[in-house]
Amino acid sequence: MTQSNLVSSIFRKEVQAMSAYKVADATGLIKLDAMENPYSWPEDIKKNWLEALKSCPLNRYPDPEARQLTATIKRLNQIPDQFDVLLGNGSDEIIQLLLMALPPSASVLAPDPGFVMYKQLSLCLGLEYHAIPLLADSFDLDFPAMLKAIKTHQPSVVFLAYPNNPTGNLFSEASIRGIIKASQGLVVIDEAYAPFADASFINSLGQYDNLLVMRTVSKLGLAGLRLGYIAGLPGIIEQLHKIRLPYNINSLTQISADFALSNKALFDQQTQQICAERAVMFERLNALNGITAYPSAANFILFKTPENKANDLFISIKQQGVLIKNMSGQGGLLADCLRVTIGTPEENTAFIAALTKSLDAS
Ligand SMILES: *Cc1c(COP(=O)(O)O)cnc(C)c1O
Repeated sequence: MTQSNLVSSIFRKEVQAMSAYKVADATGLIKLDAMENPYSWPEDIKKNWLEALKSCPLNRYPDPEARQLTATIKRLNQIPDQFDVLLGNGSDEIIQLLLMALPPSASVLAPDPGFVMYKQLSLCLGLEYHAIPLLADSFDLDFPAMLKAIKTHQPSVVFLAYPNNPTGNLFSEASIRGIIKASQGLVVIDEAYAPFADASFINSLGQYDNLLVMRTVSKLGLAGLRLGYIAGLPGIIEQLHKIRLPYNINSLTQISADFALSNKALFDQQTQQICAERAVMFERLNALNGITAYPSAANFILFKTPENKANDLFISIKQQGVLIKNMSGQGGLLADCLRVTIGTPEENTAFIAALTKSLDAS
């Protein structure tokens, strides 16, 4: 049997139709493509972290319930006691777990443009996926269209990223509440960018049985640890615990995240710097001829470039040593759009210089 016959006879057709999630090689480049925090830790904090790691028994399996870290996360996020929390190997894993628990006939709904993993993981599991276009001018939810789609498709899960990736805006709170009320299924508010936004649905958990709030430490400054979490009613979270792998949060992540989150002041300071730089970057982008930057409540900015120039600009910026994200290939509302993560002031200046030069040359 040839390899391609083997593949086509063994694997599900959904899997064969997919392509793997590709991450660009950033070697030698200023990395402004993946919403990472650009800052590291002062030496004394690093030293204390290594001290904490020393006591980690690597010969033993991790605490399967990650009890200490879960308690820390509940406390720091002020998640009331009556709600349970599930930790994941990144919030990506939580999205996967939730979708794995659905019946094969279930459907999933999210606005478009949105976070790619909702669609990628739904399709890979053979679930029906409905992408409802955002409003063109504001990137806000098209509330009537969302309600209509929910009524028609009765999705088991609606994902709403708040703020949204890749557009950076916060959807209207009234529309979100309307969607939660209208949904027979679960509504996941994905707050991956909560540290950079002054808005959250954590305090609304008690108001709706079908509401889940998901967060991650990745964008805050701990992307390398792979840790996300989701909060909701115990009966719902319990189902996810049943299908997760027993030791999904490794010991080094448990110890490191608990240590890092106890240094909240450091992250607060870094987050403030990033938000201040976001304001500077927004101004500088909009001051450039032919560029429209969209308002952002996250640690990145989506911006529109002159028609049919996005690919060339992206390549030219990269040739000058700065890696951002080219969104234009997705078309629709993202046509001609690029996305830049907020870096250090020096990195941002290098990016603006590269973009300015690329625009002049185009
Ligand atoms: C980055 C991102 C995630 C994934 O976060 P991880 O915890 O790193 O897996 C989830 N949702 C949104 C909207 C994101 O932008």
